[in-house]
Amino acid sequence: MSIDGVESPRPPSFIRDLIEADNASGRFGGTVQTRFPPEPNGYLHIGHAKSICINFGLAKKFGGKCNLRFDDTNPTKEDVEYVNSIMEDVRWLGFEWDAMFYASDYFEQLYQWAVELIKQGKAYVCDLTAEQVRATRGTPTEPGQESPYRNRSIEENLDLFTRMRAGEFPDGSRTLRTKIDMASSNFNMRDPVMYRILHSEHHRTGDAWCIYPMYDYAHGQSDSIEGITHSICTLEFEDHRPLYDWYCDNLGIHHPQQIEFDRLNLTKVQLSKRKLLTLVQRGLVSGWDDPRVPTLSGMRRRGYTADGIRNFCGMIGVSKTSGIIEYNLLEHAVRDDLNKRSLRIMAVIDPLKVVIDNYPDGQTEQMEAVNNPEDAAAGSRTVPFSKVLYIERDDFREDPPKQYYRLSPGREVRLRYGFFITCTGVVKNEQGEVTEVHCTYDPATRGGNAPDGRKVKSTIHWVSAAHAVDAEVRLYDHLFQPGVEPKEEEDFTVALNPASLVSVNGKVEPSAAGAAAGTNFQFERVGYFCVDPDSTPGRPVFNRTVQLKDTWAKIEKSQQKK
Ligand code: ATP
Ligand code: MG
Repeated sequence: MSIDGVESPRPPSFIRDLIEADNASGRFGGTVQTRFPPEPNGYLHIGHAKSICINFGLAKKFGGKCNLRFDDTNPTKEDVEYVNSIMEDVRWLGFEWDAMFYASDYFEQLYQWAVELIKQGKAYVCDLTAEQVRATRGTPTEPGQESPYRNRSIEENLDLFTRMRAGEFPDGSRTLRTKIDMASSNFNMRDPVMYRILHSEHHRTGDAWCIYPMYDYAHGQSDSIEGITHSICTLEFEDHRPLYDWYCDNLGIHHPQQIEFDRLNLTKVQLSKRKLLTLVQRGLVSGWDDPRVPTLSGMRRRGYTADGIRNFCGMIGVSKTSGIIEYNLLEHAVRDDLNKRSLRIMAVIDPLKVVIDNYPDGQTEQMEAVNNPEDAAAGSRTVPFSKVLYIERDDFREDPPKQYYRLSPGREVRLRYGFFITCTGVVKNEQGEVTEVHCTYDPATRGGNAPDGRKVKSTIHWVSAAHAVDAEVRLYDHLFQPGVEPKEEEDFTVALNPASLVSVNGKVEPSAAGAAAGTNFQFERVGYFCVDPDSTPGRPVFNRTVQLKDTWAKIEKSQQKK
């Protein structure tokens, strides 16, 4: 399937196939239990939506369950603000978890299992600094060096680990390490650290702990405790799977199947909580919900719909090789959904005044307008028409180029839901810019057709100047400059697009004035717009969600190329 010139990958299947095979063989008793395991150190982004759709989607498909679990093992970076936003975003996407847990719920159990591994002679307290541990890890071709503390007695290890927990040692002075194999070809198996000392307040456990488990030690065991059957994670954890399996096997506990899939990479945006946090902290965007950032809260504020995002996740599929998806596929999915659900209104974002000289002064009439041609149930409304209107500046050219069929001197066009008008002249300012267009109208064309059957080549939208409501319209472009793909090691802020937010004063038809924040509209012929929470009673604020495909812009571009 090809959408907007973008190849849509095959539909998800390999994870489903693996689960079906497990169900057929009776592994896990034919049950499916998944989880979505975010670390509460930032807001969720569109990449997380892919993981949410996979985990909750598989549970639903197989009649299983899906937990929400906060992997909160990093107290210095985590916060309840993030916990709350994550719950809100998962629900907004349309999913409800069967149970909610925190890895910190399991700290005591994880500690007891660590003690058990010490007793088995499979874990030891190491006094090397983090830097020394790194320096002795070896290289891909050379084995690492064994720690001089590797062969401490079980008694000494138990004593030191107890005292680590009791807070006797400063941060970074000791770690608990797993005793596996310093010569393993897999770095993750070279005596990985299980616990570090961190005298830091945890957002849930307060100061109860000053040692915290590492991700690799906490994650699989948390899965095990919850009875997870299929632990689905991104491809970079493939090399961690042997360690995941090692812990479950050596502890003799329930052993979930880890399955890796390709993380979502999208052109034009940064999908990393760390980078998004930098943007927020440095004030380069207005917050985690800035409509330019690819967080779910930013996309929601921008006007992206949950259905649009879920449909996108369905289109991209799941695979075992990483790739990069074109951003315009996401826009396509969102536009497609908005087309079905948005109320149409007329709004002018770059107003040019039009005076209809033969229309009676002071008269107003109500024109019937369809709310949504895609949805008959949405009904219709009336739009006031009068002598002075605004049209889009771009819908008038004094000197029209070839194939430009909109308003120009002597040319007749149709006003949407209105009349035919013919341009008779213009008024200009001292700079020579057109400030006012004069027209005449044909009263016999009310509703949009001429009784004599004469045709016009274009239909333009308008608002009545006396009735229109002033609105702030925020036009968004990509946060990063086109063509500049910041590299991992660079300060990516150098690539910011100075025109990513342009705020203009638009004129909207009165029916849209009091709409609630979050309401999606299609501004006819312009694009999809969403009411922003910054709106005040007399002054609505609209965010441009996504543009409509503009046929004239395409023609103009191709003419410029010639
Ligand atoms: P980031 O790199 O943005 O900080 P993360 O992987 O550290 O992301 P977590 O909170 O640990 O973020 O992620 C929760 C779940 O979401 C994990 O299972 C992770 O694999 C998944 N996930 C994160 N980013 C993506 C992505 N781009 N595509 C698909 N899944 C993702
Ligand atoms: Mg992470």
